[in-house]
Amino acid sequence: MNTIWADRAGPHDALSTPSGTAEWLEAIGSRLPELAPEDLDDLRRRLLPLRDALLQLAAKATDDTRWVTPDASSVRRAVDEVNAAVIPRAPQLAWAADHPVTEHLRAPSDPAAAVVSHFAEDAVALFGTGESSRLRVCDGPDCGLYFVKNHPRREWCSPACGNRVRAARHYRRHRA
Ligand SMILES: [Zn+2]
Repeated sequence: MNTIWADRAGPHDALSTPSGTAEWLEAIGSRLPELAPEDLDDLRRRLLPLRDALLQLAAKATDDTRWVTPDASSVRRAVDEVNAAVIPRAPQLAWAADHPVTEHLRAPSDPAAAVVSHFAEDAVALFGTGESSRLRVCDGPDCGLYFVKNHPRREWCSPACGNRVRAARHYRRHRA
């Protein structure tokens, strides 16, 4: 969901260009193999509908409509989008001579679809459990990023946003 954010210049979308997509993947610490530019653009095009679906689910979970305004039909479409992106996998047995029989997951034949499925599976884990009740939108100045409130006193997406809010309060108090 955090591929979209705002600052003083207005809203930004990391998935609008292949280079923005590459920067975002790097920023989240993705351990994806090096992708060729055309693969990256393919991945970007496939992530867009999933991201838009997740924004619908996040807006519904947080009751915050700054990015999108979900309704029953948009939420139903979002759920369908997430489910369509998940590659169903069942563990299978593998055997090689002189080795014990082991469990393995068949490697997907389409790497970009596997990456999209990875994000969709994370979304199932977030929205399919009580975890989404701790999802919040950061109210830091010019922010709007989502975060999971994993501590009762956590109010911001990052310490940097908390510092900016405290600095703004301090400025307002002392300007008078
Ligand atoms: Zn923030």
